[in-house]
Amino acid sequence: MAQITLKNLAHSYLPNPSQEDDWALKEIDHVWRDGEAYALLGPSGCGKSTLLNIISGLLIPSQGSILFNGNDVTEAPTAQRNIAQVFQFPVVYDTMTVRENLAFPLKNRGLDAGIIKERVERIGDMIGMTDQLDRKARGLAADAKQKISLGRGMVREDVNALLFDEPLTVIDPHMKWQLRTQLKELHRQFGHTMIYVTHDQTEALTFADRVVVMHDGRVVQIGTPDELFERPEHTFVGYFIGSPGMNFLECSVEGETATVDGNRIALGSDYGRPSGRIQLGVRPEHVKLSKGEGLPATIDRVEDVGRHRIVRARVLGAPLNIIAGEGEAIATDGQTVVFEPGRVNIYSDDWRVEPHGSSVGRRAA
Ligand code: ADP
Ligand code: MG
Repeated sequence: MAQITLKNLAHSYLPNPSQEDDWALKEIDHVWRDGEAYALLGPSGCGKSTLLNIISGLLIPSQGSILFNGNDVTEAPTAQRNIAQVFQFPVVYDTMTVRENLAFPLKNRGLDAGIIKERVERIGDMIGMTDQLDRKARGLAADAKQKISLGRGMVREDVNALLFDEPLTVIDPHMKWQLRTQLKELHRQFGHTMIYVTHDQTEALTFADRVVVMHDGRVVQIGTPDELFERPEHTFVGYFIGSPGMNFLECSVEGETATVDGNRIALGSDYGRPSGRIQLGVRPEHVKLSKGEGLPATIDRVEDVGRHRIVRARVLGAPLNIIAGEGEAIATDGQTVVFEPGRVNIYSDDWRVEPHGSSVGRRAA
């Protein structure tokens, strides 16, 4: 198992990158802790596969270096890195049986037949293919083939890291949940360093100890699910994480007060006088319906989503989502909203401003 260090790493697919947009991966410095389960989360095209392929050695970065346990492997081929990687689409040997496919990485390393059998049968069980171990892979459906790919990635115990690049894309939703649970179990048992790439926040937040959020070729935040929820470092994280995402209101800020269209909002912390384009960010979960006090709200629509309701409103001309409990009254007239002090974040040019002091306790991570 390995700690993986990225130093001044960046990548462009162009021979002579000249402007920021030319870089598929902007400069990143990061240490992936040994034995931790990470999710790499971001929308399509933000650079997740580029980063993963640099770690596995499929791609040599244009700039910077990569170290496994302190040893520079930047130029080392994939085979020397001792890594298992699972891709979005199945890679299986059609002429082999499921069992032979799963055994392949172990046979290659000359493991004892008894150990191979035991290990293959355990993984076969984990991916739910015990009954099909002696079938040829040819003719199996895409999701079955993907389970084989996943199993082959999981079968070795001696790898430096396990890398998964959106491995559950072709798997049906129920099986997805089961396989993710199995991956977590594998992590619990063997403590491999794992990096799981996904564009799905639920997958990322349920799988990982720590989530690395990417946007436009840049890592914008690395944090626990709780940190990403309570203190998004960038407006993109606020918007991308959560359902619905964070609300943003253009405002000005002085000290502990934000002003939106002449309305004053208590922030519960002292922000000084931040400059740039200032926005107040508040999660729908932290907006409360009230009567009289607070900001006037126009309710557009109420959506019942089971455990709670999503109220689509407009506040001071801007759209604002509110999560309301089943029993909460929603007024058709004279509805106002208040923001939970201490649960509001302030952004300057999209980056979170750290308050100087706090008069209301902020939740610890
Ligand atoms: P993700 O995995 O997050 O969807 P990628 O790492 O595949 O993103 O892509 C990041 C950016 O790099 C995208 O703009 C994509 O078009 C570009 N890109 C990816 N692979 C190549 C390639 N082989 N050649 C040129 N551009 C590429
Ligand atoms: Mg990708």
